[in-house]
Amino acid sequence: MPMYERELETMPLGKLEEFRFGRLKKMVRYAYDNVPLYKRRLTEAGITPDDIKTQDDIGKIPFTYKDDLRDHYPYGILAVPIQKTVRLHASSGTTGKPTVVTYTERDMDTWGRLMARAYATAGVTSDDIVQNAYGYGLFTGGLGFHEGAQKLGCTVIPIATGNTRKQLMMLKDMQSTVLCCTPSYAMYIAEVAEQDGYVTGKDFALKVGMFGAEPWSEEARKRIQDSLDILAIDNYGMSELYGPGVAVECPEQNGLHIQSDEFYPEVIDTKTGERLGYGEKGELVFTMLTREAMPLLRYRTRDVAVLVEEECACGRTHPRIMRIKGRSDDMLIIGGVNVFPSQVEHVLMNFPQSSDQYQIIIDRDILDKLHLKVEVTQETWDDKAKMDAFAPKLAEELQAVLTVKARLELVEPNSIPRSMGKAKRVLDLRKRED
Ligand code: ADP
Ligand code: ZN
Repeated sequence: MPMYERELETMPLGKLEEFRFGRLKKMVRYAYDNVPLYKRRLTEAGITPDDIKTQDDIGKIPFTYKDDLRDHYPYGILAVPIQKTVRLHASSGTTGKPTVVTYTERDMDTWGRLMARAYATAGVTSDDIVQNAYGYGLFTGGLGFHEGAQKLGCTVIPIATGNTRKQLMMLKDMQSTVLCCTPSYAMYIAEVAEQDGYVTGKDFALKVGMFGAEPWSEEARKRIQDSLDILAIDNYGMSELYGPGVAVECPEQNGLHIQSDEFYPEVIDTKTGERLGYGEKGELVFTMLTREAMPLLRYRTRDVAVLVEEECACGRTHPRIMRIKGRSDDMLIIGGVNVFPSQVEHVLMNFPQSSDQYQIIIDRDILDKLHLKVEVTQETWDDKAKMDAFAPKLAEELQAVLTVKARLELVEPNSIPRSMGKAKRVLDLRKRED
């Protein structure tokens, strides 16, 4: 199987662990010497870089939070003069004021290699034609997916997000073999393709979809794969950790390989901060191992997942993230039960009566019911008997699977706004929308 950097990707487990830890020790020293915030934090914790002697000592290093980036807005965590950096991005600001990240030339090269690996891991080669429909700009998705494909030697079409009819025309006329975008946009592209009478297997030459940047369920994957006749591959990352490419999926589709030679992975208990083991569900925490411009030690992602460590059939040895459920701050508490929007999606997508669109509405502080707006298919909408039968069935299933009571609102086709970037699955009516 082709790999972009075989030696790093298949390093035997023991050696990999040693390699990562060696890098981590160096990184702690680098951050301490070059970022005043880290010198202060480590000193406050009563340690110096020399105190990190075994992997267990990692627990002594203080965490870094998203708020630390905001508090030191814009350039406060820089380890090099801003003149030495060559690129600036910002988070898409899904959860508040954007955070700014910067890159040196070497950081750009590292990120590009990680993304080239991501493509190769998905089975993409230099012969492929890559239609990149992620947003270009401050969001890291567009340029991240762009540069990785170019580094691998693919032909990149930088079409960016939006103009869905033109996307379809290009998919057909250019015979693009790879589509890059958010899963929610992929679903929308598939929907418009069907409306416009494209026959996906025949009109398009698509093989692989490089999807990510938001949580999506296994059922959503199945729908995308079937409707676009494509292998849908997941990619996880965030702007604070370069962008996309932190963890990447292979065609086995059995979890995302963390590129752990560059990101030291941990899973922790969100409340106590205690380090958890493989197989235990918790918050993902990463230390960037070679980042030059903006090193982050033990960065709290707020993303909740489970890690597994066992070699994959593809030959890669790095630990894998089982599907990311979502952000700890997206988690809803309904009647005392913890629910992620991705779990709701999981239930919903098993019903052919629903289109791919739904929205969870929050209009009060204490939730005793899941207020869910579900868009139905035209066929269901047109048939009163089907409409009447659907809601109770769905409510029953939500109760059985998630143990929550639901207040359902069935809405007509095309009434929930489509997203080109990250889908907005939770509509919080308590917050003023900017
Ligand atoms: P913002 O925080 O403004 O949304 P980013 O664009 O950097 O900025 O988003 C990163 C976040 O997107 C991650 O922390 C995670 O919650 C989510 N995310 C990215 N990729 C995936 C994925 N493949 N699966 C689930 N969630 C993802
Ligand atoms: Zn694999």
